[in-house]
Amino acid sequence: MTSDPASLASPSKTNLQETQELHRLLVDVVRDYAIFMLSPSGIVTTWNVGAERIKGYQAQEIIGQHFSCFYTAEDIQVGKPEQELELAQATNGFEQEGWRVRKDGSKFWASILITPIYNSDEILIGFSKVTRDLTERKQAEASVKELRDIKFALDQSTIVAITNKQGVITYVNEAFCRISKYSSQELIGNTHRIINSSHHPLEFFKQMWAIIGHGFVWKDEIKNRAKDGSYYWVDTTIVPFLDDSGKPLQYIAIRHDITNRKQVEEELRSSLKEIADIKFALDQSTIVAMTDRKGDITYVNEAFCRISKYSEQELIGQNHRIINSGYHPHEFFVDMWKSIADGKVWKNEIKNRAKDGSYYWVDTTIVPFLDPQTGKPYQYVAIRHDITSRKTLELELEQAKEVAESANKKKSQFLTNMSHELRTPLNAVISYSQMMKQGIAGEITEKQYKYANNIEVSGKHLLDMVNDILDIAKIEAGKIQLSFQPFQLRLLLLELQDIFIGMAEQKHVQLDFNLDPAFGTITADPIRIRQIFFNLISNAIKFNRENGKVNVKVFPSQDKRWLIGEIKDTGIGISADKLDELFTEFYQVDSSMSRQHEGTGLGLALTKHLVKLHGGDIFVISEKDVGSTFSFQIPLGF
Ligand code: ADP
Repeated sequence: MTSDPASLASPSKTNLQETQELHRLLVDVVRDYAIFMLSPSGIVTTWNVGAERIKGYQAQEIIGQHFSCFYTAEDIQVGKPEQELELAQATNGFEQEGWRVRKDGSKFWASILITPIYNSDEILIGFSKVTRDLTERKQAEASVKELRDIKFALDQSTIVAITNKQGVITYVNEAFCRISKYSSQELIGNTHRIINSSHHPLEFFKQMWAIIGHGFVWKDEIKNRAKDGSYYWVDTTIVPFLDDSGKPLQYIAIRHDITNRKQVEEELRSSLKEIADIKFALDQSTIVAMTDRKGDITYVNEAFCRISKYSEQELIGQNHRIINSGYHPHEFFVDMWKSIADGKVWKNEIKNRAKDGSYYWVDTTIVPFLDPQTGKPYQYVAIRHDITSRKTLELELEQAKEVAESANKKKSQFLTNMSHELRTPLNAVISYSQMMKQGIAGEITEKQYKYANNIEVSGKHLLDMVNDILDIAKIEAGKIQLSFQPFQLRLLLLELQDIFIGMAEQKHVQLDFNLDPAFGTITADPIRIRQIFFNLISNAIKFNRENGKVNVKVFPSQDKRWLIGEIKDTGIGISADKLDELFTEFYQVDSSMSRQHEGTGLGLALTKHLVKLHGGDIFVISEKDVGSTFSFQIPLGF
């Protein structure tokens, strides 16, 4: 079709001519190669189908044209076409690759073979030129290289694994081994179950398989478990590779290590939650307000609104003067501002006034928030607790105390006065009854003597009672003063022994005194110490039985810092439920028995007061019908 029409039409054909003809026909139909002839000067003389396809020219367009039109402008500029013909002659045919231009001006990468053709006389009659379009191959090569580069980059940056359609691992890259701490031998042939952390529910992987099994890409974050038991998080993309029917052949899993991000996320989440929890707890329990540097309210919580009875809108933008009760002096707030503006936390109790005019007390802590640059406060957070009920109680208590104090004072005053007033006539009653007994007022009968004696005994009892009352009143009014002086405890105890020996004999009670010989002189109030022993010993005898025992023991404590007095009896004892009240004024365990003993119910109360005044204490151990032990201790070494 593109060959010489004249020679085809020739009627007489030699064998050679026939072969040439066949050859030409063959060349004509080759599609993948452009095969054509050039004249010695480079004019195109033949053109095949391949040439037409590759270069885009029809035979009639190109035959007769110079072949330099196949070259790029730059190549033409440097005389490449001519050079190549010369080179072909010199080398008897040469091959090269380079850019060539199609009819439409587009370039393609070509492999070219130019061969010089000589006739039998060895005269150059032209050139054959075979050109192949290598663009596709070149592109394929480029894309193979590109793929190789991408794979390299992927391997460097990414955790890659390939599994077959059953999920069995067929390939893992280095990054996969590094993060999972398994070797590729350990991984290949296994499924991904080997790195399952059990963090995700079964459903998670079921869904994944459903998606990739249908040929879709799946993406999510997975927590995996490395060989050493440590956990890591990977952002995972699984891409199914499909066969022609669209069924997955294998899966490629691409992962990125997001363990750090996950950790930060987790920490952030938990600290955010913590902050939210703290804020919630604070808001529930606490009255919170925030102010700016100037003291203008920028935030109040619900509790603040509830107690102040103002709405949030009414408070924001105001300063705390809105709830000022006028209770605190001006300096109170001046001092507060001084310390918080200085960056110091301030704490105090404030009385505030609610919108409805009612007052409330808040225990207030103001925390300044400092600007890290200037170190100066840029806002203040005030945290308050409602202490109104406590404050009210405190105030009531204070008032009650004041009332009680003044009542007590009056009582003491009354008792003191009364005792003094009573003592004078009582002393008169006693002296006159004594005088009557002595017969100073004239001879008296036995009966009269007995009556006078009764008057004297009763009078003395009353006087004892008045004296005790006077003592207690004095102690309560804080008017009793101990007069400390050194004295011989031994002498004091001997004196007491003399006093009580008669009484004990009368009751058939055995009275023993045991004084630790280490004791010499001690310093205390001798009159009051005597009173303490007197009361306890007289009780021990009084509340005893026929043939009972009383043992008085005085010894120092182990550390020598205390004097211990112990008065032990085998008397009637005191039941446990009565012990607590024993030391209160006018308390008597069994009034009929006590009356029988003419007690006042003041002795133990006074004794305790006196021990306490000395800086000591008193205790009792007792068992009903068995006996009692009263021990007191007072500090030594005044
Ligand atoms: P009183 O003047 O009645 O003795 P106290 O204050 O000395 O007053 O004693 C209060 C009460 O404690 C007594 O009435 C008595 O019932 C009981 N009591 C005191 N000491 C003893 C004791 N050693 N044994 C049994 N009971 C005692």
